[in-house]
Amino acid sequence: MPHKDVLEIDTIYIDGRFVTPHGTELFDLHNPATGAVTGRVRLADEEDARAAIAAAKRAFPAFSRTGKAERIALLHRMADAVAERRGDLLDAVIEEYGAPVSRAAFMVDHPVNVLREAAELLGDYPFVRRMGTAEVSMEPLGVAGLITPWNSNAGFICGKLATAIAAGCTAVVKPSEMSARQTRIVTEALHAAGSAPGLFNIVTGRGDRVGAAITGHADVAKISFTGSTATGKAILRAAADTLKRVTLELGGKSPTVLLDDADLSRAIPLAVSAAFMNSGQACIAGTRLLAPRSRLAEIEALAKAAVEAVRAGDPRDPATTVGPMVSRTQWERVQRYIRIGMEEGAVLLAGGEGRPEGTEGWFVRPTLFTAVRNDMTIAREEIFGPVLSIIPYGDEEEAVAIANDTVYGLQAYVLSADAARARRVADRIVAGRVLINSLAHDPKAPFGGFKQSGIGREYGSFGLDAFLEPKTLLGEGV
Ligand code: NDP
Repeated sequence: MPHKDVLEIDTIYIDGRFVTPHGTELFDLHNPATGAVTGRVRLADEEDARAAIAAAKRAFPAFSRTGKAERIALLHRMADAVAERRGDLLDAVIEEYGAPVSRAAFMVDHPVNVLREAAELLGDYPFVRRMGTAEVSMEPLGVAGLITPWNSNAGFICGKLATAIAAGCTAVVKPSEMSARQTRIVTEALHAAGSAPGLFNIVTGRGDRVGAAITGHADVAKISFTGSTATGKAILRAAADTLKRVTLELGGKSPTVLLDDADLSRAIPLAVSAAFMNSGQACIAGTRLLAPRSRLAEIEALAKAAVEAVRAGDPRDPATTVGPMVSRTQWERVQRYIRIGMEEGAVLLAGGEGRPEGTEGWFVRPTLFTAVRNDMTIAREEIFGPVLSIIPYGDEEEAVAIANDTVYGLQAYVLSADAARARRVADRIVAGRVLINSLAHDPKAPFGGFKQSGIGREYGSFGLDAFLEPKTLLGEGV
């Protein structure tokens, strides 16, 4: 049971006001670095979801007619307001999610940046276009349901909301209940920015209740979801009844293709960072390291040393790069995959089951397997923890085949001393993004997956298109 001084979050945000939810279920918040209960949140239910949708529906007609200048000003006000809460958000990201300080700084600046980037994008976006003899205008879809996970809570809320606002849509946001403290801070900031009641509503509740109520509701025109592939499929099925427009940003099993000419002193640290970013809880994590057999021993030795040097522990220690898993469930899931790896015959080079020494929370030992075959479970399924698998290959042809032999297609990495050669390999990889000798991100470029990594794209003009519907005018006076 929580002790007296735990944080109590007992309101949700509907129609421009913080209100007591109709739902009465209480959910404990934890510090994943210790496992201790740090707060309690009262969850919204289906009735709250319906009230939020109704508020967003009422706000839509007026908001959809606002011009660019008004929306740009709102996005900047929101960015300023979130930036003002940087300190609070940083503490919450560390204490509620377990992000190491080195990562947490990005996680609190990113939501501000996505709001500003949406404002910039909106400034340049052509809502009205001439196509042949027709005039085509891009019209906002209506009420958008934005369903977000816990691995970058503020970034997902602000990113999806910023795009909805830029498009002229109103929104109902359903964040993960595990991130309620971060959500509370973001909601207060967005509220302080001042906007029309109902324009955005934030209802923290369970996915199978509040999330399902949103995806099934006839007054919701659009769903933007980030999370697991299994839930994404359930959402797509639920959304089919009312033919909602659906954007899904799902899982990955990203390959890092290490070519035989790579400078390993550069490539190995990059490959390890790609695998363990966000404590391994990243859809874009490069979890399959494809290594040429001709240099396997060298790669294994360097990768083992690099993984053993990864600090998993106190998130407030600047030397820490891998924090705890977000929850006990997630910790157990990663442990299970490590066991499966051993059972299926992968060779453990570093880490393994259990906790790193001196930790008590939901920490995983940064783990490296080698002799992994691409048909093993740990090479096929998303683990979502700091577990990297070395998969040996013979030649470049085989490397490309292994890279593409996955149900996923979100991101890939190619590492080589020869940029032109790396580019040729990158061209053959089926993934939404391919990064060459880099961990770069560009918010103007589309982000999303091929195959079962999702449907549609976020960011940039493709992201904005996804909240709009083209309307064609033909004939006299056009
Ligand atoms: P989910 O996909 O279940 O959760 C993501 C969001 O969807 C949460 O807000 C969740 O609510 C909500 N949700 C769950 N069920 C429904 C539903 N039927 N209708 C509408 N919304 C729903 O992920 P988990 O948190 O269970 O994580 C499990 C695995 O998913 C991870 O190990 C990882 O592999 C993957 N994942 C991928 C992410 C990515 O960035 N692509 C992010 C997070 C997870 P609630 O929290 O109440 O369940």
